[in-house]
Amino acid sequence: MSAQDHQQPRRDAGVHIPGTDYVPHYTPPAWYQQRPQDAEPPIPWHSVAPPRSLEPGCHVCGARPVAHAEVRAHTGLLFFGWSRSVGEPLCRQCGISLVRTMTTQTLCRGWWGLLGLLFHTPVALAENAAAYRKYRALAPPTPVPGRRPLHLGKPVLRRPQVYVALVPLIWAIVLISSIALR
Ligand SMILES: [Zn+2]
Repeated sequence: MSAQDHQQPRRDAGVHIPGTDYVPHYTPPAWYQQRPQDAEPPIPWHSVAPPRSLEPGCHVCGARPVAHAEVRAHTGLLFFGWSRSVGEPLCRQCGISLVRTMTTQTLCRGWWGLLGLLFHTPVALAENAAAYRKYRALAPPTPVPGRRPLHLGKPVLRRPQVYVALVPLIWAIVLISSIALR
């Protein structure tokens, strides 16, 4: 097969520009058209690039995979109280670390207000438990160079400030049972 054979169909495929005799066409050089018989078919460029994930990385350390969950901390003060929540995507380690920190804060400070005692603190604890299960189900994160995940810290029940929760809880149980037994 000569280079002439390859050129013929391309010349026909040229586009005629009206009003001129000029028919532009491009003929690839012979060395480009003649491949060895046993050559592998060329690999398309788009299959060489690694697959790109559109999933955003961890908000703190950039690692993947991530889970989307709401982590909450509540502080109660008599008739008032305020909640703080984090909803950004987090990796397993940053997620568990944040759940531990915010659950500890909630257990320590959440019970000191009326609404916190009855509503906000139990809801925050339930939400954090659900978030914890989501983060735990993730595969260990692949670290991103130059960025550090949050320090995991101790489990919640090994942090002494958590047991501050017992003071208002016991008080509430005593109060409710004294009303009920009156
Ligand atoms: Zn992270």
